[in-house]
Amino acid sequence: MSFMYQDPYQRQYRKLRVSLTAACNYACQYCVPNGKKLLKAKHEMSVEQFIKAVGLIVASAGIDQIRITGGEPLISNKLEGFLIGLKQLNIPELCLTTNGQFLEQKLPALLDAKVNRINVSLDTLDPVRFKEICRGGDLPTVLRGIDKAVEAGMKLKINMVPLKQHNADQVVPMLDYCLERGIELRYIELMKMGHLATGDEFKQEFWSMKSLLDQISEHYDYAPTSAPKDSTAVRFNIPGKGDFGIIANESKPFCRTCSRLRLSSAGFIYGCLSNTRRHYIVDTLKLEYEQALAAMQEVLNTAMKDKQDLAFTGETTVMKMIGG
Ligand code: SAM
Repeated sequence: MSFMYQDPYQRQYRKLRVSLTAACNYACQYCVPNGKKLLKAKHEMSVEQFIKAVGLIVASAGIDQIRITGGEPLISNKLEGFLIGLKQLNIPELCLTTNGQFLEQKLPALLDAKVNRINVSLDTLDPVRFKEICRGGDLPTVLRGIDKAVEAGMKLKINMVPLKQHNADQVVPMLDYCLERGIELRYIELMKMGHLATGDEFKQEFWSMKSLLDQISEHYDYAPTSAPKDSTAVRFNIPGKGDFGIIANESKPFCRTCSRLRLSSAGFIYGCLSNTRRHYIVDTLKLEYEQALAAMQEVLNTAMKDKQDLAFTGETTVMKMIGG
């Protein structure tokens, strides 16, 4: 039986993001302040716990899309086991977000698991700037991974976080690169997360939807195009070339239609990125099925109340810990 939670704004859960590990092989400027790569959680869930938790969430909330994220999911030794476990849950849509450094190696496993769509995070096509922003990995490996995935017929999107002082001049080259390959580019407005929630860095680096569109309009004609009701992106079409999107969390907040729910690798449920409130579910997994289901339903109800009414207000939680 599936219980559809709905809040006063008619929001329901539809999409679950699972952070397979908090560890990452990058230490991106906007994600971690000190350049220290994040490590995995001290008490990371086992594959069995992940699958049990996801099964209960799916049975409770009518989830029809799972996105595997992190940290960096492709460095987790639980990836293959998790993908195998997910098969029995018959999730209609399985997606993954990655920095792409291990995309070529992991592609066979992802294809085998019938992953429907992959978002690759890539902020620049300049190898020097790449090192500056990511503080890990290397650009040619990521570009090779993208080519191999496209060749294999995998549906891709690319996520770029434009930063005023680091890669704003890459906005159009990145769009050219994506349009040439038939990949939809998603610009993500910088979010006030982690160290950016306080201090001046956010203001110094924020590059707005208006700045992006001004830059793009010097090179392309574009027109707004459709997006699903609960999409985070505003989408545009460039006639004869393709589409791009902007996740404009500051300029055009989308909290009112948010359908997302997050499960961290340490076993916490988060109802909202812009809220430190979290709900521990590992003890629930020890209960027998009917009891566990009832407990999970209660947690999901509570987590729905954690969502912001209108807009992302900023949060000290680090994106990598809860899964971007
Ligand atoms: N390691 C994977 C990756 O690089 O895609 C998945 C995790 S990463 C936290 C997910 C996404 O969050 C990336 O596209 C990253 O650029 C984005 N991100 C992290 N911190 C952000 C911030 N403060 N504002 C906007 N996007 C952010």
